[in-house]
Amino acid sequence: MGMAVQAFTSSRVVLPGEIGAFAIIVEEERIVGTVPRSEVPHSVQVTDFGDLAILPGLVDSHIHINEPGRTEWEGFRTATRAAAAGGYTMLVDMPLNCVPATTSPEALESKRKAAQGQCQVDWAAWGGLVADNHEQIAPLAAAGVCGFKCFLIHPGIEEFKMVNEEHLRAALPYFKKTELPLLVHAELPGPIDSETEQLTHADWRVYQTYLKSRPDEAELSAIAMVIRLCEESGCQIHIVHLSTSKALARLRDAKRRGLPITVETCPHYLHLCSEEISNGATLNKCAPPIRDRANREALWQGLREAVIDLVVTDHSPCTPAMKQLERGDFRSAWGGIPSVSLALSLMWTEASRRNFSLIDIARWMAEGPARLAGIEERKGRLAVGLDADMVVFDPEAEWAVTPNELHYRHAISPYMGERLRGKVLTTFLRGECVYKEASFPGELRGRECTRKTFATHHN
Ligand SMILES: [Zn+2]
Repeated sequence: MGMAVQAFTSSRVVLPGEIGAFAIIVEEERIVGTVPRSEVPHSVQVTDFGDLAILPGLVDSHIHINEPGRTEWEGFRTATRAAAAGGYTMLVDMPLNCVPATTSPEALESKRKAAQGQCQVDWAAWGGLVADNHEQIAPLAAAGVCGFKCFLIHPGIEEFKMVNEEHLRAALPYFKKTELPLLVHAELPGPIDSETEQLTHADWRVYQTYLKSRPDEAELSAIAMVIRLCEESGCQIHIVHLSTSKALARLRDAKRRGLPITVETCPHYLHLCSEEISNGATLNKCAPPIRDRANREALWQGLREAVIDLVVTDHSPCTPAMKQLERGDFRSAWGGIPSVSLALSLMWTEASRRNFSLIDIARWMAEGPARLAGIEERKGRLAVGLDADMVVFDPEAEWAVTPNELHYRHAISPYMGERLRGKVLTTFLRGECVYKEASFPGELRGRECTRKTFATHHN
């Protein structure tokens, strides 16, 4: 194409570990230089964003795109459009709730077909580890998945089979050969089943009923088991969407002992709290559940101490009907919170009032997730050699959420009407603008961006 060399500058460019007046020099699709703003060569075409912040394009390693098979919930077109509006340039799709679930190379192939020509930003896939697909682990790794996800509890849909400790022990030797991370939904059914039994006659429109039905103990016992398996096998294990802060001590200890364990949490656990969820407000239902205010503060402390490594959306949309907004029944409503278009503003609203900086945001929401997915040489930082993925963000802007800002398939959100701090203005994917002030210029250029595959790595 012979694109000219360009420079993108501002007084607040967020490089790894520092923020200041820099220029990002871009040639074709890659970053070829990061220099002080005053040192941009004269021949280079400069786009100056003044005092706005320029962050690396965000990476969401936990999103449910649901296509093929449940495109009426979400899909590549709408999810990647919402992502671009939220400052994300790279999504790693969870192996469920699409149909087929991504538990075989054939299923991965059907996902690739579905994504073709539909994507505003880049993407990759996680594979599924289920009770009966051990022999698919190596082929899926060779086919280019970034790692595997499993559930220790029923995931709410039938086609993705949960695993127990015995299944995991049997799968780990297959899995270890791939050198990929295993992502674990860490809740065990025992504590949830016994609590739920006590609540048969409770009022399920009340949020506290739902919260009681998913006690901290479900996460604590699962995490204890995961740490045990991590220690025995040496496999790299990642805890998805940590909700209970009570697990932080145990996780801190495991990390201090050098176990290859990493942890994520999500904006909804860091922004919402159970005290403020009204009865019947099922838009706030997710699993594990949003817990109390003190728990939320302890999660922020977990981020401060780097016991929690990264922040991802767990963007998990469904149709409005499935949220049963009129009945407001927390037992039967679908659990999942869509947020990919709002996550950066939600995080900055909370982080800035706790004295975190945009450097922390970039580490949690871009570099950390890229590293987990094994694509840190391509995505997640403003650094030479990486894709020129950038988001221009106004950290001071204050605005109220309306359906117009959501951009995913169904404009429902627990955050509707909330005033947030910080707004995404423009998003660049590999050097070209894919989002600018509520519009999506240019063609759909998003493509699959796989890690260095298992096959090339080992042959
Ligand atoms: Zn999820």
